[in-house]
Formats: sequence, structure tokens, C-alpha cells
Amino acid sequence: MAKKQFKAESKRLLDLMVNSIYTHKEIFLRELISNASDAEDKLAYKSLTDENVDIKRKDLKITIVPDKEMGTLTVSDNGVGMSKEDLENNLGTIARSGSGQFKAQLQEDDKAADKIDVIGQFGVGFYSAFMVADQVTVISKAWGSEEAWMWQSDGADGYTVTQCEKDAPGTDVIMHLKKDADGENYSQYLETYQLQELIKKYSDYIRYPIVMEVEDYRQKPKPEDAGEDYKPEWETVKEWKTINSMVPLWQRQKSKVKEEEYNAFYKEKFMDWQDPLAVIHTSAEGAVTYKALLYIPAQTPYDFYTREYQKGLQLYSSGVMIMDKCADLLPDCFRFIKGVVDSPDFSLNISREILQHDRQLKVIASALEKKIKSELLKMQKDDREKYEKFWKAFGTQVKYGIVAEYGAKKELLQDLLLFWSSKENANTTLAAYKDRMPEDQPFYYYACGESVDKIAKLPQVERILDKGYEILYCTEDVDDFVMKALGEWEGKKFKSVADEDALPQTEEEKKAAEEKAEAGKEVLEAVKEALGDQVKAVRISSILKSGACCLTAEGPVSLEMEKYMSKLEGGEHMKADRVLELNPDSAPYAALKRAKEAGDQDTLTKYAKLLYGQALLLAGLPVEDPSEFASLVSSLMV
Ligand code: ADP
Repeated sequence: MAKKQFKAESKRLLDLMVNSIYTHKEIFLRELISNASDAEDKLAYKSLTDENVDIKRKDLKITIVPDKEMGTLTVSDNGVGMSKEDLENNLGTIARSGSGQFKAQLQEDDKAADKIDVIGQFGVGFYSAFMVADQVTVISKAWGSEEAWMWQSDGADGYTVTQCEKDAPGTDVIMHLKKDADGENYSQYLETYQLQELIKKYSDYIRYPIVMEVEDYRQKPKPEDAGEDYKPEWETVKEWKTINSMVPLWQRQKSKVKEEEYNAFYKEKFMDWQDPLAVIHTSAEGAVTYKALLYIPAQTPYDFYTREYQKGLQLYSSGVMIMDKCADLLPDCFRFIKGVVDSPDFSLNISREILQHDRQLKVIASALEKKIKSELLKMQKDDREKYEKFWKAFGTQVKYGIVAEYGAKKELLQDLLLFWSSKENANTTLAAYKDRMPEDQPFYYYACGESVDKIAKLPQVERILDKGYEILYCTEDVDDFVMKALGEWEGKKFKSVADEDALPQTEEEKKAAEEKAEAGKEVLEAVKEALGDQVKAVRISSILKSGACCLTAEGPVSLEMEKYMSKLEGGEHMKADRVLELNPDSAPYAALKRAKEAGDQDTLTKYAKLLYGQALLLAGLPVEDPSEFASLVSSLMV
């Protein structure tokens, strides 16, 4: 019998499948099961509208049969089936309904490599069978027809359609698997455990039972007349089992799902050994319809801050997984969220075409973003202990979110922030800080440093605390950037205690400061000369209350930013302009002055270096020449 040729573009798609080097060939099973499920759907629908179709929904099922002897894997359904014309039209061309994007790509160029991604994300339906099979036979009997037809193809040069026998309506897709070769393992698709895994992974929530005969090794029931010395016996039993769970957790009513169920699902699906910190089960109907089940892990995943970590939610379309990690569903600031979204708006066909640019997807993403935030705020209010755990695990990510995209997500995220409060000795929200603030306080104060203890001892901190003002202690690299990104909030600015104007001066104070600066002019100039380019300026401090010296920065780059940038690749060039500030009421300053007056330049240089070294250490920066500094300190003892 003459072979019929595939239509041109189908042939190219077919070539691509046959020669596919795609690593996730396993998705062929998902594709065939989806087709089978669609066929069941169509029949179920028919039964509603056509009284001649008297099937019961509960009788509809999908059967998987691996046959090791024949080397075949069969996917069967008892759905609508296909007539001879259907077989020719549907399997001889790329389905008109779907794969549009693929069609477009196929027309664009011929390089298979470019299309690999598309296979992974969307699948390409029936033809994917040729990724694993060298011959595919489809035996089908349409509902209401007496005839059955067999479509057969080895992929390369066309297909045949011949009449055949088949008892019940429906379709069998029989794949003769390719031989294992070149590291490709096709025989794994004959192993029931492997098939079980694939069904669980991709098709767990197909609404019809997917049944397969599996082997179970188990204890024989104990005979009633078993004596004292009865030893349990084991046996291998073959039985038909439904592999998929059919009803997705997220489709169930929230009030009917137990916490353990949510947790078990999370652990199994996202491979965490720990229960999640929180579950967000949400849905929407209307312009877009979706159900989402989102989780906040209890701990930072070990690879969270590495390139390996991929954000994204699993995307389902009515129970069929169409994408494992859909990144567009999650903003970066919430990249720690794990979960699934199921929306009938993405039918498999639609999604294949336009998923990436889809407006629906954006609407869902933005709704989820709001929902995640509101759930976190609720937790912050109602369960602070839990929120602190969340903050410990993912607070840094939220802060990065504030800084990223030029502060675009600032409004969304600022209520979520926590900082250590000098007053409460605990974490505080910005709102709570603001509530405690005395009316005359000009700024929201913050101080950066390595640890709360170290910050509390910073000279710059003292004068602000003395005023009775509260300070937010910032111990993370990113904090200074966060504060700069926040800039202003509800009428007041965020201010580093290291800024010279952190405490506005009265006219009198200003005058006194100017006088002091004038009086110290010569000493300051001499110190600047001694230190050279290491510092941009030396000045009389209006910050220090006690202590002899401190280091501040002038201009846009703060010392904290410099520290942070120095850890990043290529960030070393970002240096703060350093200013050495001296306390004119301190003993070391008096010593400087004496040396200057005595014209003892050596001693003055030595003291200047000692003070600068101290200032660096206090600021948490390394001294530039440790051995010189050490010998300077030692020289004081002799
Ligand atoms: P798609 O599923 O995107 O339409 P496929 O290439 O997978 O593309 O399938 C082409 C068409 O073949 C389907 O639209 C459907 O009409 C028909 N078809 C495939 N498998 C079956 C099946 N098991 N039962 C009935 N019809 C099927």
C-alpha cells in the first residue's frame, strides 16, 4: 500500500522529533496522556449533549501498558476515538489548533537546536512520540462508528492508514521504542517504576484515572490457623492501580484541606525535608481565573544565593503541567516562593503559542505579588514569631528587592522591612519606629556596622542616643543601599548617623563649631599633610562626643557602600572619599597640638597615622599598613 506523505511543515517537525537531542524526551508521555485526556473530555461532553452516548464519566480512563517482550509502550483511552478522516487530518498535519508558535518557528529557519526550548516548555503533542519511538501505531475507533482504523508511521517517509479490528471505541497509541544507544536510555520507558514516576511528575492531576499494572512486593496475609512459630511470607503481586491522584490539592476547598496535606504536598513536590513556614492558597475568578498554592519555605534554600537557584512557579492548565518553573509569575523580590498556579485560561494549545508574552500571565503575576505581600503583612501582625523566622530566612532578599530596579518595588516592600531598634533591642518595623518617635526628631536615624554591639559603640551613635532618639542598627551590606533607596517616607528622610548634618545645629552651635575649626586650622592642615591622599579632608568633628577620632565619608559613596562593593567582582574601584574627624576636646588632639606648636613634625606625623589607623578600625575597615601601625603603637610603650 502506498505511503502517504506528511504535509511539509509536519514533516519538518517530525524530523526534529526523530532526531531530537532534547534531554527531556520523557515529556512525550505527558503529551500523549494529555491527548488521551482531551479525548475523554470530548466524549464526556458528547454524553451531555447526545443521548445516544450513554457512557458514565466514572468509566473513562487512560491505560498504560509497557510490553518488554515487544519493546512497546501503549497509551490507551476510551474517549471519542478517531475516524479514518480524523486520523489523516489530525496526525498527518500538525494540529491546526495548537503548536502555532512552533509552526512559525519552523517557517523561520531549519536549525533544530533553536527549537529545543520550545519542546521543553510547551511540548508539541502527538509527534513527540517520535522522540522515543522508531515506529508509532495508532489504532482508533470513533464513537458511533463500526469501523476501526490503524495509522502507522516510522516517521521518516510518511504513514499508512488501513482498516483493522478494535472492540471498544477509543484510541491506542502504540510506540515501538528505539534501541538504547549512545547513552540514550529508551528501555527505561518500559519500567513500571519509571512510568509511575513520570505520570506522577507530569500528569498527576489529570482528571481521569491513569491505570497501569504494577508489581507490589508485600507480606502475605497471615493464615488463620497460623501457629506460634509463624513467619511472615512475602509475595509479588501484580495489580492494576490508578497512578495519578486526579484531584489537585489546589482545586480543593481551602477549609477541607488539612495542614498535613498541604505540608506533605510541599515536601514531596519541592523536595524539602522541612514543613513550609506558611501556605498561601488563593484563587480568582473573572477577568482571569486561576488557583494558586504558594509556599514560603522555612529556611533559605542552600543554593538560594547562587546562580543555580531558579525562581518560578509551576504552571498548570486544568491539571496538566505545562511549565516547571515559570519565572514570569514571580517578581524577584519574592523569588523564594515555591508553588503552583493552575489556570484554565492557558489551555495547552494557547500556552504553546503565546505563553511568554501573555497578558493573562502578567495579570496573574501581579495579583500574586499583592497577595504574597498581604499575607506577609498579616503574618507580621498576627504571628510575629513566625514573621521573624521568615525575615531571618528571606529578609535580605526583600531588601535586595527594594534596591533593585531603581527602587521600583519600594512601595510594595517597605512595610515588610525589619531593622534592629536601639530602643527596643529587638527588630522593629518602620511604622512602629515612626510611632515611637518624639515630635521634634528631624530624621529617621540609622547606623551601619558589622554587628549590633559594634554599632552601639560607634562614636557617631552616641550623640543621637543622647538626644533620646532611636536608631535603626543596620548590620547587612545591603542596608545602606536600602536606606538610600527609601530616601524619604511619610515626610521625613532616612539619615545616617555618620552624616555631619545628622543633628541640625542651632546658630550658636554653628558659630562655636566654626570657631573651633578656625582655632584648629593649623593642626588640621598638618595632619592632612601627614596623611596625604589617604584622606580627602581632616576636620574638627561635630559628631564626636567622646572618643578622639572617627572616619566619615563625603560625597555619594558611603563607607558601608565601599565595604559592600569591595566584596563584589569589579567593585573595588568604588571608594568612599574619606574624612578624618577629630575631637578637639580629647587628649590625643591636645597632644597633636603640642607637637605642632613645638614644631615636632615627626611626632605629629606619627600621631596622625595612629589616629587615622584607629579611625579605620573603628569604622570596621582594615588599616592600610598593619605592620607600620603595629610598630607605631609599640613605640608608645618605650
Ligand atoms: P494538539 O493536542 O495540540 O491538538 P496533537 O498533535 O497532539 O496536537 O494532536 C493532534 C490532534 O489529534 C488532536 O487535536 C486530536 O484531535 C487528535 N488526537 C490526538 N490524540 C488523540 C486521541 N488519543 N484520541 C482522539 N483524538 C486524538
